[in-house]
Amino acid sequence: MNCALSMERSRELQRDRLRAHAISHPNSELLAEIISSWQCGIGVLPEWLGLGEEQFDQLHQFYFGGETSIRACPWSRNLDHRLDDLRQDLLKLLLINARDHSDEVRWVAELIATACQGSNHLWEDLGVWNRASLSQLLDHNFPELAARNSRDMKWKKFLFKQLCETEGLYICRAPTCDECADFDECFGPE
Ligand code: SF4
Repeated sequence: MNCALSMERSRELQRDRLRAHAISHPNSELLAEIISSWQCGIGVLPEWLGLGEEQFDQLHQFYFGGETSIRACPWSRNLDHRLDDLRQDLLKLLLINARDHSDEVRWVAELIATACQGSNHLWEDLGVWNRASLSQLLDHNFPELAARNSRDMKWKKFLFKQLCETEGLYICRAPTCDECADFDECFGPE
C-alpha cells in the first residue's frame, strides 16, 4: 500500500470510529470528516483544530461522547499569521449570521474562520472531504449567509466578498460578475 493510500485508509478508519459514537445531529458526520482529516495531517487546522484543548474536548464530548481516543495531532501547520485579523473579521461575520448562539455553531464558525487562513479551496483547508460537505455545513449553521451565495461562488471567495461589502470595500474589477475578467477565479469547479 503506498503512502497516499495508507493515509486515506487511516482517515477512513478514524472517521468510521467517530461515526460509531456520533450523536444524531446535522454537524456530526461533517465534524467526523474534519477531525479525521486533521488527525491525518490533511487540511490546515492547527493543534486541537485551533479551538484549544478544552474547547476541543467539549466538542468531542458533545458530538462523539468522548468515546474515541484523540491525541494531539502530530502534524504542524503553517497558517499565515498575517491573516489573523482577517480571521477575526470572518469569525465576526459568521457569528452575526449564525443560526443560533450555541457552542455547536460557534465551534463551526471558529473552524471555518481558521481554515480561511489556508491557501487552497476552503473545503480542502478545512478538512471536509468534498465541497458538498462544506456547503452542507454552511447551509445548516449559517443558513441566511449561505443562501446569499445564489450563484454558487467558490466559498472562500464568497466569504471574502461578503466581508469586503460589510466593510464598505469594493475590490472587484468589474461592476458585475458576468463582465469580469476574474470570473473563473470566483466561480467554477472547486
Ligand atoms: S467575478 Fe469579478 S466582479 Fe464577481 S466577485 Fe469575482 S472579482 Fe468580483
